[in-house]
Amino acid sequence: MDLDGLIRDRIRDVVDYPKPGVVFKDITPLLADHVAFAGVVDAIVNHHGRGTVDKIVGIEARGFILAAPIAYHFGAGFVPVRKKGKLPSATYERSYDLEYGTETIEVHADAFTPGERVLIVDDVLATGGTARAAADLVARGGGDVVGLSVLMELSFLGGRDRIGNLDVHSLVTV
Ligand code: 5GP
Repeated sequence: MDLDGLIRDRIRDVVDYPKPGVVFKDITPLLADHVAFAGVVDAIVNHHGRGTVDKIVGIEARGFILAAPIAYHFGAGFVPVRKKGKLPSATYERSYDLEYGTETIEVHADAFTPGERVLIVDDVLATGGTARAAADLVARGGGDVVGLSVLMELSFLGGRDRIGNLDVHSLVTV
């Protein structure tokens, strides 16, 4: 099976999670398969090329799992973007709209030095609100966003249209 097929096979649809009417893409079977997990990490590193970024941003929580080994293989540092109130030192924050209500995410204010090349990594691109807010936070911190890499893009939710000029690389699109 090629990587595309392997990813599709190892991501499980969970109906009515986290609420009725939503079909959640569960990546835990993929993470539990070391061939699939390593294939995903390698594919993202190879797409950009070692030495092309200085920092990898992982978005809480599943983004952390992918971003950490990607940072290691890039030879880049890892920076967490977290839900409000979880980071211990001074932060920048950004709020964005969800279907119901808002979400706020943060990054440490001193996470980047000016001009550092930053790749944002997450598991799923859905409506794009999270990725847009993360890119804004990196820019606020002085980083230069080179793009967003995700495992899976849910194209029917139109995330790409909402994230402006951010360069999106998705391994699988549904
Ligand atoms: P967005 O802001 O693009 O609507 O949602 C993307 C964020 O929500 C990502 O951080 C992602 O982890 C999470 N997310 C939204 N839908 C799903 C899903 O179906 N599966 C997984 N694994 N994460 C999702």
